[in-house]
Amino acid sequence: MIASKIIINYGVKFKLTHSLPHGALMMQDRGMRIVDDLRWRGVETWTDRPLGPVSGMRTGGKAEFFCAPASVRQLRAVLEMARRHGVRTHVIGSLTNTLVSDEGVEGIVISTAKIRGLLIKGDLFTAYAGEKLDTVINKSVEHKLTGLERLGGIPGTVGGAVVGNAGANGLSISEHVLYMDIMTKDAKVHRLPHYAGAFGYRSSPIGDDELLLSVAFRLGPALNTVQARQEKERYKAERVRMGQFRNPSLGCFFKNPGGTSAGKLIDEAGLKGISIGGAATADFHAGFIINKGNATSKDVMDLSRLIQDRVHAKTGIMLEREVRLLGDFS
Ligand SMILES: Cc1cc2nc3c(=O)[nH]c(=O)nc-3n(C[C@H](O)[C@H](O)[C@H](O)COP(=O)(O)OP(=O)(O)OC[C@H]3O[C@@H](n4cnc5c(N)ncnc54)[C@H](O)[C@@H]3O)c2cc1C
Repeated sequence: MIASKIIINYGVKFKLTHSLPHGALMMQDRGMRIVDDLRWRGVETWTDRPLGPVSGMRTGGKAEFFCAPASVRQLRAVLEMARRHGVRTHVIGSLTNTLVSDEGVEGIVISTAKIRGLLIKGDLFTAYAGEKLDTVINKSVEHKLTGLERLGGIPGTVGGAVVGNAGANGLSISEHVLYMDIMTKDAKVHRLPHYAGAFGYRSSPIGDDELLLSVAFRLGPALNTVQARQEKERYKAERVRMGQFRNPSLGCFFKNPGGTSAGKLIDEAGLKGISIGGAATADFHAGFIINKGNATSKDVMDLSRLIQDRVHAKTGIMLEREVRLLGDFS
């Protein structure tokens, strides 16, 4: 007979099952200590948090632990606690470029989306990682600074944009980066100057075990802020007109191989509109994989692999994924 009871601990439910083997009880105990520790430090923390509802693709399983530190001090506390308990950490912004495994994610998923703030000094514009990129563009223009407008309408945080060197309409965000402040997993803060060659196509010098805290942009003077704001809104409106936000997606799923567009290759391979389960290529852009409503991350991955195989068979080009993966997809 299994005796179990629910303990409500800081709003987090733990099921204590007394017939569990010793190892499993130790795991539950560790979980409670992690949540207690973080909550005590004021960090918003959840166990078994479903990531599907907050991911761009609206698919994927649960995070064993999910926390959203609201300051650099809280972030440092999370990293120190993770090290103390030997728990793996994963960093996300707002998951608009990340596919989450249906099996969920072991360890602590740390969202930097709540680490926000802007500092403006002359033509130096500093944004904390959790600010929305769109807000950063609006605020820079409000402060009579120009440069980022062509990125108007790209969803997600500025942290995610810098780490992935987001780009659109012939502009990569790195073109305006002066330096970045990062935290390494030992909770130490470092300043990385932008040096030539550090960023690549959809890549940055930020390593997998580093967290971007803030980014300083060098922007130009906006002589006409009305025009700059209108330009940014035009780029954003064009995305809406195309239908980019009609279905959940992660934007372009594949990188453009040198000299051509992934979407064009997929289209020419006759794969526009093809679907597996609830995942399909979009009719407005074959490089977008969309969720038609009931997709799983497995559907999305299966479709992406089929696209890679077919395009490779037709052209000899192996498309490389632009989207990042979180959790196990083996
Ligand atoms: C409709 C649509 C259109 C899009 N159009 C474009 C486009 O035109 N151009 C483009 O480049 N992208 C585009 N994207 C993709 C996406 O919006 C961008 O890549 C965005 O910048 C990702 O931000 P995020 O906060 O959601 O990052 P996430 O998806 O949460 O994370 C992306 C990567 O960055 C890492 N990361 C995030 N924050 C941090 C941090 N603070 N420290 C360390 N690592 C971090 C994560 O570990 C992950 O590897 C589009 C997406 C959608 C849904």
